[in-house]
Amino acid sequence: MTTANIIDGNALSTSVREQLAERAAALKAKGVTPCLAVILVGEDPASAVYVRNKVNACEKAGLRSLKDVYAADVDPAVVMARIAELNADPGVHGILVQLPLPKQFDSDAVLEAIAPAKDVDGFHAENVGALMQGTPRFIPCTPYGVMKMLETAQVPLKGAEAVIVGRSNIVGKPMAMLLLAAGCTVTICHSRTRDLAFHTRRADILVAAVGKARMITGDMIKPGATVIDVGINRLPAEQGGKLCGDVDFASASQVAGLITPVPGGVGPMTITMLLTNTIEAAERCV
Ligand code: NDP
Repeated sequence: MTTANIIDGNALSTSVREQLAERAAALKAKGVTPCLAVILVGEDPASAVYVRNKVNACEKAGLRSLKDVYAADVDPAVVMARIAELNADPGVHGILVQLPLPKQFDSDAVLEAIAPAKDVDGFHAENVGALMQGTPRFIPCTPYGVMKMLETAQVPLKGAEAVIVGRSNIVGKPMAMLLLAAGCTVTICHSRTRDLAFHTRRADILVAAVGKARMITGDMIKPGATVIDVGINRLPAEQGGKLCGDVDFASASQVAGLITPVPGGVGPMTITMLLTNTIEAAERCV
């Protein structure tokens, strides 16, 4: 039986997207249609689904989207030239390159090629630096979505022990910066952490961003903690082939006070915050 309350990412996304549609309409009334350009390279099925979802979400919220799809063996110079074109186009407010990129690409160089003012994923070094300094221009979408969920659920942050499992540039590190700025005492765990459970059991707020199905179990969670599951993992066919998070929901929800489900938790919020960043970029242009 579930004891934890659920933080419903679908419901929160719906309400935030309604507000975004109003902001998009207000921009249109001023002659500006917010526009997101998405670049997809290769045939990775998960990336194709993510891009499709982003483009569909734009359309529903009244944003314009451009989609450029390239074969996996494309010359990186072709993609770089397209980024330069999009940078120079005043009708484009946000640019996103779907990761991962094929081997012939230097991903860092591609991310650095995006104009910082259009870097709605917040991965450009200039934007990462601004986040570190506490003056963010674009907050990376997944941690931004998590902060929105914590705020909406009125989770106390000042003085809270926050433990993040995962130290990637797109989730773990920016998540740590945001929780730190909000007044949490932050611990970042990773694959070399000794005695992971020692740390997770201290967490008032536990964020799992690992990419390992159900690795955080109920016995690793402090009673009453807020548990945010960023992971998206597909179980093998013999286990049903379903999506699941990094948290073992069945045992964790017996112990946690608040918990996000997978699917229907952080995932929809990530796209919602991408739309938010794109609209913010367009608003800065008027
Ligand atoms: P990465 O693979 O880049 O990072 C995973 C992190 O987990 C690394 O820091 C790694 O440590 C750490 N790790 C791996 N194994 C362990 C372990 N046994 N104990 C402790 N730490 C461990 O993944 P991402 O950050 O990109 O993504 C994490 C998960 O979130 C994935 O499932 C991904 O699909 C999902 N995701 C979901 C999004 C959403 O919208 N909901 C958006 C983005 C990602 P080390 O650095 O030492 O290798």
